[in-house]
Amino acid sequence: MSELKTIEVPVKGMDCAECTQHVQHAIAGLQGVESVNVFLASEKAVIRLDPARVEMPAIRKAVADAGYSVPETDPAKMESEQRTTEDFTRRILTLFAVVFGFVLFVVVVGEWLGLFEELTARVPFWLGAGLVILAGLPIFRNVIRSALHRQITSHMLMSLGVLAALAVGQWATAAVVICFMYVGEYVENFTTERARRAVKNLTALAPQTARVERDGQEIELPIADVRVGDTVVVRPGDKIPVDGQVLEGQATVNQSAITGESMPVEVSVGANVFAATIAQLGSLRVRATHIGADTTFGHIIKLVEEAEANRADVQRFADKFTAYYLPIVAGIAAVTFLISRNPLATAAVLVVACSCSIALATPIAMLASVGAAAQRGLLIKGGKYLEALARADVVLLDKTGTLTLGKPQITDVVSLNGIGEMELLTLAASAERDSEHPLARAVRELAREKNLALVAPHEFQSIPGMGIRAQVNDKQIAVGNARLVPDANAAQNARNLEAQGKTLLYVAVQDELIGLLAASDTLRPEVPDAVKQLRALGVKKIELLTGDNERTASALAQQLGVDFRANLLPQDKIAIVREYQKQKHTVVMIGDGVNDAPALAQANVGIAMGVAGSDVALEAAHVALMRDDWNLVPDVFRIAQRTMRVVKTNLAFTAIYNTLGLTLAAFGFLPPILAAAAQSLPDLGILGNSSRLLRQK
Ligand code: ADP
Ligand code: MG
Repeated sequence: MSELKTIEVPVKGMDCAECTQHVQHAIAGLQGVESVNVFLASEKAVIRLDPARVEMPAIRKAVADAGYSVPETDPAKMESEQRTTEDFTRRILTLFAVVFGFVLFVVVVGEWLGLFEELTARVPFWLGAGLVILAGLPIFRNVIRSALHRQITSHMLMSLGVLAALAVGQWATAAVVICFMYVGEYVENFTTERARRAVKNLTALAPQTARVERDGQEIELPIADVRVGDTVVVRPGDKIPVDGQVLEGQATVNQSAITGESMPVEVSVGANVFAATIAQLGSLRVRATHIGADTTFGHIIKLVEEAEANRADVQRFADKFTAYYLPIVAGIAAVTFLISRNPLATAAVLVVACSCSIALATPIAMLASVGAAAQRGLLIKGGKYLEALARADVVLLDKTGTLTLGKPQITDVVSLNGIGEMELLTLAASAERDSEHPLARAVRELAREKNLALVAPHEFQSIPGMGIRAQVNDKQIAVGNARLVPDANAAQNARNLEAQGKTLLYVAVQDELIGLLAASDTLRPEVPDAVKQLRALGVKKIELLTGDNERTASALAQQLGVDFRANLLPQDKIAIVREYQKQKHTVVMIGDGVNDAPALAQANVGIAMGVAGSDVALEAAHVALMRDDWNLVPDVFRIAQRTMRVVKTNLAFTAIYNTLGLTLAAFGFLPPILAAAAQSLPDLGILGNSSRLLRQK
């Protein structure tokens, strides 16, 4: 068997939630396809397949057989064509909406005045019925196609209602039902399109061209032709086309496309810049390190587009519900007919309950929230996480780099054993040379300030949650906390320094303690207020988890008014998350995404801080905050709660409305004409309610 490959295929024509499932089934049924994910928002299918066994034409045919299409791939041409036809359909559909708003009005008033009976009496039946069938032709064609695929659709039931009305000679009623089927279709198209727009707005920010230096010449290239290592020239006002490193120049850069923060930052030689951000003042020469889909911005787009794959339970519930709902309605209609022998009541039952909005409302709400949040620097990887955030009752916080700025400074160097302070620092900094830990950076920084010459370490070994070991000058050096260095407790001064909230690094040579370094890290200023807001949003338990010592942790926890556990190893953090989950709590873990990635992954929702530029963190987190701003934390809880409120209101409203409608119709209190009108109202209401989420403040 040859190697599996993942490909993306654009799919056109999907505008309801059932559609994605039809396409999904069609592709999954092919030989050689391992898995398929179909996305409504980005109109594509992501397929994992064995390229030796499936080919494009087969996929295209399967999709076409299911009633959808795969456009030929000339991306540039496709894009522009698509836009013009979309504009066109939008205009036509708006026209439709206005016309049908008018129709709705006429229908209600007309029914009230008895005009339809007049009409039915005056116009010959064959003429009326002929018009109805002509008008409904496109719908009937789709219904027949679905029937051949053994799919039950809402249009199928409504078409039965139309037939029932025609059977008893009420062609005017049938005409009104057809009208409202078109109205429903319009509303669906319109709302799906709006939800898609949140994602499309984001995609539209992607850079298209770059000014590249080739053979001493500056040429403008489409982004696809830029290579890693190229030197890219950025002028004032330009969108930076690649992720890269500044070789020359200075500029203020607006990074809002990535971080949602419009306050520009200063960059100069050596700084990293991101694609899709905008250079405002000053020019830059940038060496490209990542291009297109590999850039941070490219990752963001992909994650947002594919957020649909992480479906919320409530969404699965809605899907299942629709699968059973239509057959149930058909059953109720059959019973109604058998008992009452009233074709009009039966038609009313078939017509009143068939709103696609139940299936569509939930994904639209989720999509709208994910899209709107992404534009503010908050990346949420799916409805599943919105759902969990809305009911979260335990929040666990990592300390270093999360609550604190992650830029600790060494404040004290204490030598024991008579060794010189500078020698102590030289040994420690040399041993820490290859560590990425913020504390290691602090040690190196101080050594640099003191102009100390470092020695290359050998056999470097990092022990997570404890410290590091390395050979320096043939001596075995250990730098870390009391767990790593055995007789650390003998150190004088230590208690004192810890009580000041400082983190201690003990330094040992051949397992003998020779001194200690004290580091202090500042709390991020927005944290205390953000923690208060989390409490107000209903989080019951907030706990600080840290690998640091008891006293340091306690000082910080007290300041914030939260619980804490200290001296933890990374695996202890995972165990604590599991422990809460076992007690049926929904756990949110907030970390820096790098050294606590496993605990983030274990939590129901893992939130990573300030991940711009860090692929590891972006990958590990369920929710990624693209800038280091704690205010985003309560924000994401608020967005989640709001989304779930909308979703639940939608479901409750639909349930009550449809039950009421079905009951009235079954007992013959609702004429089919009014049933058709009544059917389209919740569509408008629910979809309007969901798209409110697009406007997040
Ligand atoms: P936190 O849980 O607060 O994010 P970590 O798990 O990253 O902290 O580290 C826990 C403790 O391990 C630190 O407080 C420090 O004492 C020690 N430590 C970890 N890495 C290093 C290192 N490179 N040098 C010295 N000490 C370290
Ligand atoms: Mg940490």
